[in-house]
Amino acid sequence: MWRVAAVRALRGGGAGAPGAPRAASAVAAAQLRRRLESELEDIRGAGTWKSERVIASRQGPHLRLAGGGAGIINFCANNYLGLSSHPEVIRAAVEALEKFGAGLSSVRFICGTQSIHKDLEEKIARFHQREDAILYASCFDANAGIFEALLTPEDAVLSDELNHASIIDGIRLCKANKYRYKHMDMQDLEAKLKEAQKHRLRLVATDGAFSMDGDIAPLREICQLAQKYDALVFIDECHATGFLGPSGRGTDELLGVMDKVTIINSTLGKALGGAAGGYTTGPKPLIDLLRQRSRPYLFSNSLPPAVVGCASKALDLLMESNAIAQSMAAKTQRFRSKMAAAGFTISGKDHPICPVMLGDARLASVMAEDMLNRGIYVIGFSYPVVPKGKARIRVQISAVHSDEDIDRCVEAFTEVGRKHGAL
Ligand code: PLP
Repeated sequence: MWRVAAVRALRGGGAGAPGAPRAASAVAAAQLRRRLESELEDIRGAGTWKSERVIASRQGPHLRLAGGGAGIINFCANNYLGLSSHPEVIRAAVEALEKFGAGLSSVRFICGTQSIHKDLEEKIARFHQREDAILYASCFDANAGIFEALLTPEDAVLSDELNHASIIDGIRLCKANKYRYKHMDMQDLEAKLKEAQKHRLRLVATDGAFSMDGDIAPLREICQLAQKYDALVFIDECHATGFLGPSGRGTDELLGVMDKVTIINSTLGKALGGAAGGYTTGPKPLIDLLRQRSRPYLFSNSLPPAVVGCASKALDLLMESNAIAQSMAAKTQRFRSKMAAAGFTISGKDHPICPVMLGDARLASVMAEDMLNRGIYVIGFSYPVVPKGKARIRVQISAVHSDEDIDRCVEAFTEVGRKHGAL
């Protein structure tokens, strides 16, 4: 009966007899509905509504959108190495599914650890040349778990102001003293490190590569400061693992500081097969502690075998050869130089995240829409995702884009840019 009243209320129907407990819950449900609808209206009104396009094919450079739209060239996935639909990655997932089943129905420490989980952790540690690694359901979870497990009120964490939301949330969960330094501003970091000398331990936390700007953290300088002020360095390598640096190890390899960065968190859900999953890699005692204390690890299900199979094969492919990463770097260079020659400003340097800077939010949105009309799938970003007046269209290059795909994208940008007065 109460269900009927609640459903009626949720549908906007009557609340039932006044004063009755059943009616009271229906009133609360109706109130909630009104509040949610008003909040949703505010989001629409603010122009920050995020809609989702439905893809009816595999992830890849060419997509079919649900309800038509075949042959769309996709420039907005984090599929940097094109491994999301790589035949060997898919085969490895199917084999793992057959051999190890759909899932563990358990967290790791109860009965959720299989040999493939241990193998993948060992492979990740070897890839990054670290002592050990621990898997999570996502890098969001890895970031949510590490700070609370590692830092106490006696410690301090110093975080770049533009760090990813998951780092910000992870830091919120911990009880350490919090310092936020200006984006990639080494003077400000140094000032904050001086201030933080009074604490037992200092941890500098930064994205290795920042996903909105395609810029790379100045890790050499950060590590020098960390050495000077006796701090540890943590990097989030979600937009670097597998393709930055001579053998794709990431930002620390690119900038020659592999031995100076203590902790790396990264994802299996972008360049490394794109399925899901995240990890921390670093000193063995830290990984051992995370297995004991990190809440998203302790209280969430083990990674499904098919997902483990994908990531494991992706790492094998990368450790065999860096040809895929080199191909992506060449395509990135082609796109960046042709766009610059066409008159566009592309933020960042040498990174496959290529933000086409436009400034005006409406311009970014109408241009992205018009690009899709020309078969090029890109996304416009504006405030509050990026600062006011810095709206852009983010283009992400993949190793599996052909030169022709890149050239078509540049041509479409040039046409659309001229049409809307951006050039
Ligand atoms: N860190 C950064 C910098 C990211 O860009 C993302 C994903 O967008 C995450 C963490 C979260 O990764 P995952 O998708 O594995 O949760």
